[in-house]
Amino acid sequence: MAIYTCGHKIPDSDSICSAISLAYLLNKLGKKAIPARQGEVNLESSFILETFNHEAPMLKTSFANEELYIVDYSDLAQAPEDISEANIIGIVDHHKLGDITTSCPLECWIRPLGCSSTVLKQMYDFYKIDIPKDIAGLMLGAILSDTIVFKSPTCTEDDIKAVKDLAKIAKVDDYKAFGMKMFEIKSQVENASASELIKRDYKDFNMHGQKIGIGQLELIDASVLDKRHGELKKELELLRQKEGLHTAILLLTDIMKEGSTVLVSSKQEDIFEKAFNVKLEDSTVWLDDCLSRKKQIIPFLEPAFK
Ligand code: MG
Ligand code: MG
Ligand code: MG
Repeated sequence: MAIYTCGHKIPDSDSICSAISLAYLLNKLGKKAIPARQGEVNLESSFILETFNHEAPMLKTSFANEELYIVDYSDLAQAPEDISEANIIGIVDHHKLGDITTSCPLECWIRPLGCSSTVLKQMYDFYKIDIPKDIAGLMLGAILSDTIVFKSPTCTEDDIKAVKDLAKIAKVDDYKAFGMKMFEIKSQVENASASELIKRDYKDFNMHGQKIGIGQLELIDASVLDKRHGELKKELELLRQKEGLHTAILLLTDIMKEGSTVLVSSKQEDIFEKAFNVKLEDSTVWLDDCLSRKKQIIPFLEPAFK
């Protein structure tokens, strides 16, 4: 029976590329593995796959009675609906520990690094498995994406070292230029509807019994959306009602100005205000230096719901 490797819902480049590189590693270790994805391949991930001439993982959303190795998450809210019927054999991740539990022992490679692909690079080193050029390119793209080309506070020395090693293998001389090209592609928002923008990089969380949804757009110039804040807030409100969320949030992250405009729709805005010690104006606030949902939003918001 093959093991499926698969990342979170609404897959980002790390979820796509890490599923592929983990499956390759498992196959090299003598375990038959097939990379999968729970949703559409986004523009940035398509660019990375095309650059390194690799096909996308297969689309698969049901894993009942299958062996599953999860990458880039451990929250039930980001898992396939039937995950309780899957046999989870391992986790590779770099987020807070989520609420997925298992009935059998499993292998966990969870480290507080900037990207699951950095954890994977360390796994390849541990097992002394050579990384092929195309796989190295995918891992490189994932790390540059997750760390916002080293700007994110989640970026560590291990991530920078992994990028340098992988760039050599993938024969990418100017990896920073490659990373910025990825963010140019990610910054295309003109033709997208408000709901597409909110859901482009969106995650659900269960915070002490309350459902919270947080989307993030990482843009080279977030001012291109200044005129659409009202429209985006209306759409957040609709989403919140439709999905029974307590709070729906959209981070409009400006990677050059290094901060985020946060749009909030909430049953109780004061919970958000207290968590970040800010006053929302028209359900909006600028958070200076805020680039990371995982490190600068969730650790403050989650305790506020206790
Ligand atoms: Mg991810
Ligand atoms: Mg990641
Ligand atoms: Mg990200």
